[in-house]
Amino acid sequence: MTDLPPVFTTLESEVRGYCRTWPTVFDQARGSRVYDADGRSWVDFFAGAGALNYGHNNPRMKRPLLAYLERDGLTHALDMATQAKQAFLETFDEVVLKPRALDYKVQFPGPTGTNAVEAALKLARKVTGREAVVGFTNAFHGMTLGALAVTGNSMKRAGAGIPLVHATPMPYDNYLGGRTPDFLWFESLLEDSGSGLNKPAAVIVETVQGEGGINVARAEWLRGLAELCKRHDILLIVDDVQMGCGRTGPFFSFEAAGITPDIVCLSKSISGYGLPMAVTLFRRELDVWSPGEHNGTFRGYNPAFVTATAALDYWRDDALEKDVFASGEQIGRVLGDLVDEFAGLGAEQRGVGLVRGLTFEDPDTADRISAEAFRRGLLVETSGPRGEVVKLMPPLTIAQDELDEGLDLFTSAVRAAAR
Ligand code: PMP
Repeated sequence: MTDLPPVFTTLESEVRGYCRTWPTVFDQARGSRVYDADGRSWVDFFAGAGALNYGHNNPRMKRPLLAYLERDGLTHALDMATQAKQAFLETFDEVVLKPRALDYKVQFPGPTGTNAVEAALKLARKVTGREAVVGFTNAFHGMTLGALAVTGNSMKRAGAGIPLVHATPMPYDNYLGGRTPDFLWFESLLEDSGSGLNKPAAVIVETVQGEGGINVARAEWLRGLAELCKRHDILLIVDDVQMGCGRTGPFFSFEAAGITPDIVCLSKSISGYGLPMAVTLFRRELDVWSPGEHNGTFRGYNPAFVTATAALDYWRDDALEKDVFASGEQIGRVLGDLVDEFAGLGAEQRGVGLVRGLTFEDPDTADRISAEAFRRGLLVETSGPRGEVVKLMPPLTIAQDELDEGLDLFTSAVRAAAR
C-alpha cells in the first residue's frame, strides 16, 4: 500500500517491529468498532484473530478490571494462590466443566496459545513415554519450536529451519476431496510393525483450521479420529485456541462432534478482554507433572483472571450461543449470494458459527478484498496457505446494526475487488 504513515518507517526499519499494512495508526476501540488517531472508524471483522470474541473494552469485563486495579489487586503473582485465580477456577468449573461433565485439570502454561500447545505436547510425551506427534496439513499451532514442529505450513517452519521433528503429517479432513478412506491407511501403518512408523504419543487437531484457511472438519471425521486414538492408546489434543470460547457456537468447538479430547488448549478469548492468558486442560489421570516442571514468569496474570471470570457470565445461559448461530447464518447467506454472483470466478464459501471464509480461484483476490474493505471502513484479514481466503470473524457480541453495516461494506469490497 502507498502513503504509509511515518510510524511504519520507524517501526519497521529502525526498531524492526512488524506492522500489518493497514495504512493507519489505530488508537481506540469499543465493541465491534476500531478507531484511528484521526477518529476514522472501522467495523471489526478481524477481532484480534479470535482474541476478542466479546468485543473491545466490553464494559462487563472493564468494570471489574478497573475496580480490581483501583483497589491495588495483585497483578503479577506467578503461581501464588490469589483470590482472582480462585474465583476464575471456581467459575470455570461451575460454568464450563461441570455442566459438560468434563473432569479436566486446569493448568496455566504461560501467557499465549503457543504456551498452551507446548504444555500439551510435553505432557503427552511424558505420559506416554513416546516422542512422535501427528499433526495435519495446513494446521497452525504456534511459533515456538515444538508448536512449529506440528504446524503444517512449510513456509512458517522453513525460516526457522524446523523440520517436522518427531511429527507425522496427515491429510486434514477433505484435503484429498474426500477420496481417501479416512484413517484406513494410517491405521494400517500403525498396525504394521514393519512400516517403520513410530507409534505417536498424541494427535493434535483443530476442529476448524483458522490460519489454515477456515477448513471445517466434519463431525464424523472428528469422531473417527477420536476412536482411532482410543483404539491405539494415542492421546487426542484439540487445539481450541482460536475456535474455542464460542467461536463456532458452543463454548468448546469439539462439543458439536460429541468427542472428549484428552487434552485441550485454550487462549485468545479465554481472558475475555484481549489480555494474555492461556489454559491447558487435561484428564485428571494424565497429571504426571512434577512441581515446576513446566513454568513461566507470566502464567497466572491476575487482571486476566478477573476479566476471564466476568466473561464466563456470558456462558451462564445459552443466549450467546444462539446469537452466534443466528449471526453466522446471516453471514452465510450473504456469502452464498456472493458465491452465486461470482460463480464464474470460482467463488466458494466455508465456515461455521462466526468463523466464515470466502475464496476465489485467483488467490490474490483475498488481499484485494481486504484492502478494499479497509478503504470502505471494514477490517477483514486473509488466511490459508497462500492467503487466499478472506476471513470474516466479528466479535460474537456484535450488534445487529454493525453486522448489517459490516456485511454491506464487505459486499461492496468484493464487488470492487473480484475480477
Ligand atoms: N493455535 C491456534 C489454533 C492458533 O490459531 C494460534 C494463533 N493464531 C495459536 C495456536 C498460537 O497462539 P499465540 O499466537 O497466542 O501463541
